[in-house]
Amino acid sequence: MNLDLLAIAAHPDDVELTCGGTLLKMAQQGYKTGILDLTAGEMGTRGNPETRAKEAAKAAKLLRVKWRGTLGVPDSDVQPTRQHKLYLAAVIRQLRPRTVVLPYWEARHPDHYHASTLGYEGCFLAGLKQLPLEGEPFRPFKILYSISYADVRPTFVVDISAQYRQRHRAILAYGTQFGPNSGSTKSKVFLAIDRLEGQMNQLARHYGEMIGVQYGEPFLQKELMKVDDVVKLEVRSI
Ligand SMILES: [Zn+2]
Repeated sequence: MNLDLLAIAAHPDDVELTCGGTLLKMAQQGYKTGILDLTAGEMGTRGNPETRAKEAAKAAKLLRVKWRGTLGVPDSDVQPTRQHKLYLAAVIRQLRPRTVVLPYWEARHPDHYHASTLGYEGCFLAGLKQLPLEGEPFRPFKILYSISYADVRPTFVVDISAQYRQRHRAILAYGTQFGPNSGSTKSKVFLAIDRLEGQMNQLARHYGEMIGVQYGEPFLQKELMKVDDVVKLEVRSI
């Protein structure tokens, strides 16, 4: 399979919350998209791997992705080990994505920053000919970092105003995470996730505002942007 765009993240629902609108927008433009969840989210305070897998499949359908898979790395232990990198490199060789979206490399949750390193190094290894792995060597052309969780300035913002409602539905597909908090009100664990959805909506509004549209998703790339036509540049200055 040759994917145009693959989003990699630590837990099911990370992708929906950070770049779901962009995935849907690219699918609507005819690109083949995919999601690779590194873990099954089995350490989540709510739900279990079975229900989360069902929710992830439903969300994938809503975002029109062609492929979704789980790498099988243990939740809360997303380490960039040699073994995990080889697993990931094998998937990259199989899917051959032109562009890969990774989480930003600094985060509060160790799984998120480790997912960033594991993702980058797995993509790099996939291109090494001498690797003891099946499949043709392959390296993605472009790596983008999703920075919705991070406090850094993005390189660009994707206008997802037209995709926003469907992205919202995909997030709500995770009923165990975002549904009514039944029976666990006495829990001493602070479920930040209860507020996460609202916070993400606010972020999409904030980044949309920065490019003069209703909703946006922010990304960062390490390379500079190449521009051919400075007259037709978008986003008003004054
Ligand atoms: Zn996560």
